[in-house]
Formats: sequence, C-alpha cells, structure tokens
Amino acid sequence: MQIATKEITAESLVRAALDKAEEYKDYNIFTSLDKDGALKKAKIIDEKIKNGEEVGKLAGVPFAIKDNFLSPVGNTTASSKILEPLKSPITATSVKKLEDEGAIIIGRTNLDSFAHGSSTENSYFGPTLNSHDKTRVAGGSSGGSAVAVALGIVPFATGTDTGGSIRQPASFNGVYGFKPTYGTISRYGVVAMASSTDCIGFFANSAEDIDLLMSITSGRDPKDMTTLPDYYNIETGKSSDIKTIGIIKDFNNDSVAPEIREALKKKIEELKSAGHKIIEFDMPMLKYALAVYYIVVPAEISSNLSRHDGVRYGYRSSEAKDLDEVYGKSRSDGFMPENKRRIMIGNFVLSSGFYDAYYLKAQQARTLIIKEYENAFSKCDFILTPVAPNPAFKLGEKTNDPVAMYLEDVMSVPLNLAGVPGLAIPAGETKDGLSLGLQLVGPRRSDRELLRFASNIAKKEGK
Ligand code: GLN
Repeated sequence: MQIATKEITAESLVRAALDKAEEYKDYNIFTSLDKDGALKKAKIIDEKIKNGEEVGKLAGVPFAIKDNFLSPVGNTTASSKILEPLKSPITATSVKKLEDEGAIIIGRTNLDSFAHGSSTENSYFGPTLNSHDKTRVAGGSSGGSAVAVALGIVPFATGTDTGGSIRQPASFNGVYGFKPTYGTISRYGVVAMASSTDCIGFFANSAEDIDLLMSITSGRDPKDMTTLPDYYNIETGKSSDIKTIGIIKDFNNDSVAPEIREALKKKIEELKSAGHKIIEFDMPMLKYALAVYYIVVPAEISSNLSRHDGVRYGYRSSEAKDLDEVYGKSRSDGFMPENKRRIMIGNFVLSSGFYDAYYLKAQQARTLIIKEYENAFSKCDFILTPVAPNPAFKLGEKTNDPVAMYLEDVMSVPLNLAGVPGLAIPAGETKDGLSLGLQLVGPRRSDRELLRFASNIAKKEGK
C-alpha cells in the first residue's frame, strides 16, 4: 500500500530485506539469495507505479521461499546434495500466484533435507539457528523460513507442512504459521515428501497477513488434481463470534513442559473472559497418530524419492562404473542419513511380507483418526492444543536419537493425517526468553473462519 502511494519504493524495501539477510548471516537462514534478480524486479515495479500502471496486491513486498519450491530463481536444492545442482525451468503454482501479485523473492530458505526432520539440523548446508537463542534449534523442517520472518528480514515466507514443519518452527520462533486444509493450495512445483499429507502454507506476523496470502494462493489447479475448488474466497455468511473451543486432555498433562501448560491455561482464561465456551474431552485415537504417521509417511517418501536416481537430474556420482553404481553411489552420496532411514522404513512397511501388518493397519487407523476429528468437531468449533510438548531444544540434543526427535511431532502430525487446518499462534515466552506457541485446529475447509477467529482474539488482546 505504501508502495502504491509512493511513500516508499519497492527498491528500498527489497534492499532493506537483503541488508538484513546479510546482517543475520550467522543464523544460516538462506541456502541462496537472489540480490540482483530481486533488485531488478523491484525497479520494474517502481517504474510501473511511476507510470501510473496497475500493480498487484503484493507489489514490491519481499519474501522468501523454502528451498523445496521450484522456481528459476536460484537452485532448488531441498537442502540436499542430490538436488544441489538443480536449476528448475518451472515455477510452483503458489509461488507464481504470489509473483503475479508483485511479491519479490529475495532468497531460498534452509530446511531439513527433503523436509525430513523437526529441527533443520538434517540440512546438507548445516543447521539454522533459533531466532531467540543461537544455541537452540530453529525447529523444522521449515526452520529457515520461520527465522527469516522472526528476525524481520521478510514479512512472510512460504513453507511446507507434512507433519508440523510450518507450525513447529513458527512456535519455536514466535511467529504465526499456518497449515491449510489438505488440497487448499496447489502442491504443483513443490518437491514431494509424502503426497497424502503435504500441505503448502505460510509464516507471517499476523493471521490477517496469512488470510491475504491464502486468498491469493488457494484454489483449484489443473496441475494438481488433489486441489479443492476454491472455497477459501467464498463468503460463507457471518458465523457467530462466540465459539466453543475444545481442549484435549492428553495434550494438557505431565508430558507437556510446565511453561507450555501455563501458556495454554492463560489462553483458556483469555478466551473464557472474551465469552467463548471451553470444553474438555479425550481423543483416544491420537495416541496412535505418531506411529501411523511414521509408517504412512516413510512409505510415501520411499516412493517419491525413487525418482532421484542420478540419471535424470541433480547430482551424479563420478565414481560409478555401471548403471547400478550410478543409482547406488549417487543416492548413497546424495541423501542425508535421515532420508535413507525413511527410505528403508518405507520399503520395509510396503514389502509383501509386512504390508498388511504395518501399512494397511496404519491406513485403517488413519481412518479412525479422521473419524475422531469429525466427532470432536460435532462438539466444538475449534480445538486448542500446544504445537509441541517442549520449547526449542538445544542444537545436537536429539540428533543421535531419531525416536526422541519423532516424539516432538506428537501434537502436530494428527492434523496432517486428518487433512484438517492448523494455525500456530505465538503465546508468550519462557523466563529464559524462548518463544512458546499454541495451535488452533479447525474442521476441513474452516480455514478462513479459523484465521479470522485468531485475528479477533489477537485484537482483543491488543496485539
Ligand atoms: N517433523 C516431521 C517429520 O520429520 C514433519 C516434517 C514436515 O512436516 N515436513 O516428518
């Protein structure tokens, strides 16, 4: 807006973002920056405004993309060695829609390689540091995007959320992070992790900003047949301002850090005093969600990653003597240990001897989890839970214990299995200054109401 009214120029905004990116270099936020390209695009926008031409809703706004979104800007590495050389000829639908409105990519952000992880420590380019405490993890897998927004480098950044990768780093860095209903934003042009749970979403400083980004990027895309018809931009009529909020008992017990329980308690009191109704219930199937997730997701990963064979694109080992070695050595050098672990688990659960016992059983349990959410939303409008059981942990603390790392995902993965939307909202800090986050969960396609509800409660709190 300030740009369209000529108060500031796109060029000065982009330059400021690039300067900040430089200033915070030691956080290892970006895998690459596109300084020249971004400044060139900004100048074109300033020129258009000078000539009185029409510009988009995001004209001149700098943003960052997680480095698993395809675009000719930089190389799409997915923070891996195997894709490090990949220069994409195509642009992800979501990125294209943002660029069509005039937003300008300043760089690509670091992630756990192929988005496998909860800390951004599994990156080929090394970990991203937490915005509140450099000795702690940024969260993951979209750690770079979360920290870029938290440190004020860009007003928004893209992320992917297959099991919490937007919400968890958002909560570890004190910003808003939104995972929409499955199928709301096209996955076309985004490096696939697990196709049945992958969602595209955003990091920003408010629910209103995310609402704007959603209205621009959501909708049916012929290039992704799992996208839903555009429900997001259809006004559903005014729903009541007073909501019933569900609290899940199992996510509010001793397994949750005391500071997070305190933040939850405080939020419940705030909601009550604003007139909302709070109810408590159990969702017993959710205790199986983590086990289901770590069967279904590796199964899909093992299939999606089979295309990276050293032949078609990306890195190829120069030591290979025959075709088998091209596949073997390229994949062996190109993937991180966590990628390999998931490929092995996926192949195991899909193998003929174990398919029924693991994969099929997990899919059946997934159906029960979906039903349990449907049942819960017959009793309440939204559910409020922590995003993760603990605030940001120390760098290196869980890298040698994959199960401990997986356990951090216990509260975020159930939403992805059910395809329901979730918004991480900032909820204060610990006494040591670490950020705390809570998540609001809604039924499928309640995305707009969920964001508007979050924006209303933030306004009431004067934030
Ligand atoms: N932490 C989860 C995992 O490692 C989620 C990752 C994601 O959402 N991309 O699978």
